[in-house]
Amino acid sequence: MSQFQRLTIAPDQISGSYIRLTPEQQHYLWRVLRLQAGDRLLAMDGLGQCWLVAVEPPDQMQILEEQIPIAPTELPRPVVLLIAMPKGQGMDDIVRQATELGAAQIMPILSDRTLLNPSPQKLDRWRRIAQEAAEQSERQFVPTIGEPQSWSDALTVWNAETCDAYLCEARGDRPHLLQKLLPTRGASPSTKPVAIAIGPEGGWTDAEIDGAIAAGYRVVSLGRRVLRAITAPAAALSILAAALEQDMPSS
Ligand code: SAM
Repeated sequence: MSQFQRLTIAPDQISGSYIRLTPEQQHYLWRVLRLQAGDRLLAMDGLGQCWLVAVEPPDQMQILEEQIPIAPTELPRPVVLLIAMPKGQGMDDIVRQATELGAAQIMPILSDRTLLNPSPQKLDRWRRIAQEAAEQSERQFVPTIGEPQSWSDALTVWNAETCDAYLCEARGDRPHLLQKLLPTRGASPSTKPVAIAIGPEGGWTDAEIDGAIAAGYRVVSLGRRVLRAITAPAAALSILAAALEQDMPSS
């Protein structure tokens, strides 16, 4: 089934054995992909469900098969990216890359040194980017993008009680993230979700790092070089994905 183009739909678009298309989806299917009547694709709800459909211009698709089995592409444990938003358009790249690398949730953080206060339109844009990136990278799930929240609020949700939590700091003599993720001999492997926190261009403040440590975060390094705020999430998620997937059978 991997040869088929994918399209994310909302559950309320399904009506009997048909899926009604939004104007944006019609534009995408007919003008961008140039599909013709009868062409097949996979419709996904972004929550793990998948249907094989045939397109019927101008505004619908017929469901041919339900519950299509697709190759699993999700990480073995949910990974939450807590990202202190960089300025400008940086979040567009972060959302795209974090989706490709398997993040289950992306939580924009208003840290002490965050300069961006995103509009609701920006959040909609990031959700659209996540949807497109999930289709492109053949994910079963589209990561959720939360409402921006303060670091102190985030710590009440994402802390050592709810997850294995790591905060990345660019300076200081910190253990490498990879070292913290490798299984300790004799210890049973964790099954908790993983939270990884990345600071803004100016870095975390001392108070924010102290708050994270008090909430059970392990402060880690991503290597000896200082990475840009846009590069650091991709580096951290690549390391996490490699560590989490190392025992999985190859596909
Ligand atoms: N001027 C800031 C400082 O000195 O901390 C640099 C901040 S860096 C551009 C943005 C964020 O990326 C940091 O807060 C940290 O979360 C992450 N980061 C960048 N390089 C890192 C590294 N080598 N190890 C761990 N985290 C890093």
